[in-house]
Amino acid sequence: MSKISTQTLYNKKSIKNRNNCMTSTQDPSLLADDKRHVWHPYSSTHSDVPVFAVKSAEGVYLTLEDGRQLIDGMSSWWCAIHGYNMPVLNHAIRQQLDKMAHVMFGGLTHAPAVELCKKLVEITPERLETVFLADSGSVSVEIAMKMAVQYWHARQRPSKQKFISLKNGYHGDTIGAMSVCDPVTGMHTLFNDMLAKNYFVPSPTCTFGEPCQAEHLKELSLVLEGSHDSIAALILEPVVQGAGGMKFYSAAYVAQAKTLCEKYDVLLIADEIATGFGRSGKLFACEHANISPDIMCVGKSLTGGYMTLAATLCTKEISDFISDNPPHIFMHGPTFMGNPLACSVALASIKLLLSYNWQAKVERIEGWLSKGLEPCNHIEDVADVRVLGAIGVVELKNRVNMPKLQQAFVDAGVWIRPFGTLIYLMPPYIIEEPELNKLTNAIIDVINNGKHR
Ligand SMILES: *Cc1c(COP(=O)(O)O)cnc(C)c1O
Repeated sequence: MSKISTQTLYNKKSIKNRNNCMTSTQDPSLLADDKRHVWHPYSSTHSDVPVFAVKSAEGVYLTLEDGRQLIDGMSSWWCAIHGYNMPVLNHAIRQQLDKMAHVMFGGLTHAPAVELCKKLVEITPERLETVFLADSGSVSVEIAMKMAVQYWHARQRPSKQKFISLKNGYHGDTIGAMSVCDPVTGMHTLFNDMLAKNYFVPSPTCTFGEPCQAEHLKELSLVLEGSHDSIAALILEPVVQGAGGMKFYSAAYVAQAKTLCEKYDVLLIADEIATGFGRSGKLFACEHANISPDIMCVGKSLTGGYMTLAATLCTKEISDFISDNPPHIFMHGPTFMGNPLACSVALASIKLLLSYNWQAKVERIEGWLSKGLEPCNHIEDVADVRVLGAIGVVELKNRVNMPKLQQAFVDAGVWIRPFGTLIYLMPPYIIEEPELNKLTNAIIDVINNGKHR
């Protein structure tokens, strides 16, 4: 591969300070005020899971307020694919900041948004030609769902307002997105009267790399056959189910599901918010299945982890039908739509990704993860170990003890954030083998020492 070294990708300057920054001290009032006033994602205000204050981040390292440095195994939840504090991305934001931070998108447009949308159309599967910019992944899913419903309305099929999704699926936390998330982990009973009732089919049992038989899609075809008149779209995360269980399933399932959708006049929405931009080994996970969805959501690593931004792409057929039929407009318009700072850093991030042989790098990470996590297969408490692209997962037989395990990882000098029974890695693509080995060795050590129990 055209080897791009970690050094060329991020600042050398502060890397050499890595080991001599034990001087600053943790401000105890920061964590106390945090505990008193601040909600964290999916958390209790009375949680005994520790929270750590970060002072800065650079490359694959997070520096805590007390000076400790952690190797980042999470890319801040799939986002920071190029690592932190990247000079080219910083530069893109600074340059845009000097021109304008934001301007409304109703009736106005600007180069960062137009260039980004053009680039997205160019790199995503063919047929996707129109881009709707949104603020976050969940919102892009809401938009995708509304597009599907408006499309069928325009096609004189107003009864098609429901969705099918896969169990173990995750599509976001807003009310519409929640209605297509796994009903158990999404706590549908808690929100019973609030969530739209949609259709769920079992999560695919054919794993990645395996073929897929008709029996694997039996439930999906039964629901489509019986209820397609009321179904606008099938929504799924192609190949990798993320937050709903970190499962990798057969690309053939995605391809065959697409064929079924066509047969029954149901759109396919590909939620690539987690998988987009190379994480699964392809630029978009749909490419494993060689399909082009009708609607696609991207987010997370779209800006290289710099700012919140997402996009919903659709075919020209969908945007044309919606525009040519009453009410002649698409009924959505975020205040911060197309934020210029976010668009310019997204464009810079995509250009950076395409500027080097990222496939070879993700492949190498896949190899290091497979080798590094292999010993976990021989540990009693481990149920499964799986790796795909730059994603490595260790599934335990029981739920982890979060307070103890989280502290143990930080003590080991790594940032790994488990959930449920899962300990997983999705490092920035700039990581090198020694740093990745520290992450995998930390996982083996904590499990061997029972720190997960
Ligand atoms: C994270 C995620 C979302 C939600 O994105 P937010 O930016 O958190 O709103 C939706 N779908 C998938 C597959 C995700 O991984």
